[in-house]
Order: sequence, then structure tokens, then C-alpha cells
Amino acid sequence: SRKFFVGGNWKMNGDKKSLGELIQTMNGASVDPNVEVVCGAPSIYLDFVRSKLDAKFGVAAQNCYKVPKGAFTGEISPAMIKDCGINWVILGHSERRHVFGESDELIGQKTAHALESGLGVIACIGEKLDEREGGITEKVVFAQTKVIAVVLAYEPVWAIGTGKTASPQQAQEVHEKLRGWLKANVSEAVANSVRIIYGGSVTGGTCKELGSQKDVDGFLVGGASLKPEFIDIINAKA
Ligand code: 13P
Repeated sequence: SRKFFVGGNWKMNGDKKSLGELIQTMNGASVDPNVEVVCGAPSIYLDFVRSKLDAKFGVAAQNCYKVPKGAFTGEISPAMIKDCGINWVILGHSERRHVFGESDELIGQKTAHALESGLGVIACIGEKLDEREGGITEKVVFAQTKVIAVVLAYEPVWAIGTGKTASPQQAQEVHEKLRGWLKANVSEAVANSVRIIYGGSVTGGTCKELGSQKDVDGFLVGGASLKPEFIDIINAKA
């Protein structure tokens, strides 16, 4: 069975003081041992966060490049991430796709290289509002899923940072179809083992019903991951 997975995506937020306080809260909290928790930290703080956060919590980079090293000013590689004791990377987040113009192809190359390097990948996919309204949600998320993912985060773009959470039924519907796509296009074993997590305005109030859906295997949390409320989300199934 798939272990419930809760990712916190801190995005470009926090400083040593506020993140230090958040880490203290997390280290001191009682959390459900049946949940895998991973916090996505800004790259400049990866080392700092890894050195302070209890080892029972994982840490993720929020992006990386597709080769191990070279003349790529401003980028970081999976090898560097691993060198800092970090085991995960978030790739293909909608902000990378839509603010920084990353393509499905580039995200596929980054995912392949990160997996080859031994990092776990939280691969994010999700349709924009006009794509949902145009009836092409499946077309968009299947095209985005043509990368191998260890943890697949479905984040409808219209639900990110808007306070407009997908309904439990909307999330379950897309998650179930994605699992069906993995079964048809990759393998039954992959379909059964890949954790498909939901992201987009998840809060302490919405996490329980979302988390009880059959194909919702956890969450990727933005805003609420910076607050003590994150502990309630981690413990949604407890
Ligand atoms: P919010 O939880 O702030 O809507 O962000 C979701 C997200 O983008 C997580 O990666």
C-alpha cells in the first residue's frame, strides 16, 4: 500500500529566523508515523534546513538543472543537492512552468536526470482554468505525465494560492484517471505504487475529506506549510 505523503512547498518565503521557528515547531510536534513528510526549502537554505530539521522529516529542493555540472549560471544540480544530504526535488511546479516558461520537455529531461542521480522527484502537473473550462484537463495532465515520477503532485493551477481548493470529488476524479493512464501507458505496478498527491489551497479545514479519497495519497502544501497548521495537515489521516 502507498504511504501517505505530505510535502510542504515553502516557495520563496521565510528567512533563517522564521524558518528556524517553524522547524522548532515541527521538531517538537507529535506526527503520525505512517506519513512521509518532505519540506521544499529555498536552495540557499537547503543546508541550513537539513542541519536543523529532525531526520524524520525529508527535505526537498524546489528545482534543479538537467546535467551534473557546467556553465549554467544560477542553477543547481542533483549532485549538489545530494551533497547537502537532501534526497528530494520538486520539479515542474506551475510557477516554474508559467512564471519561468519551463516546457514539458525540459521538465522531462530534468526528471530523468534527477532520478538517474538518485533523487526522489515530486513531479507537479496541473491544468490552467481555461484548460479545465475548455474540457481539456485530461489531455493536459496526460501530456505532462509523460515523465516518470516517484511522487506525482496534481496541482490545478486555478487552485494554487487562490483559496479555491478542488473539491474532493474533482481531485479524486483526476487522480483516478491519472492512475488509469499510468496503468495503460507505463505498467500496472507503477500505477499501483506511484503516490498521487494533491496541491492547491490545502488547509487544516479541507485536508481530511480530500485525504480520505481513494486515489489521493497525500498533499503538496504551499501557504499552510509555513504555519503550525501544517502539523494538522500531516496528521490528516491520524
Ligand atoms: P497553496 O497551498 O498556497 O495554494 O500552494 C499550493 C502549491 O503550489 C504547492 O506547491
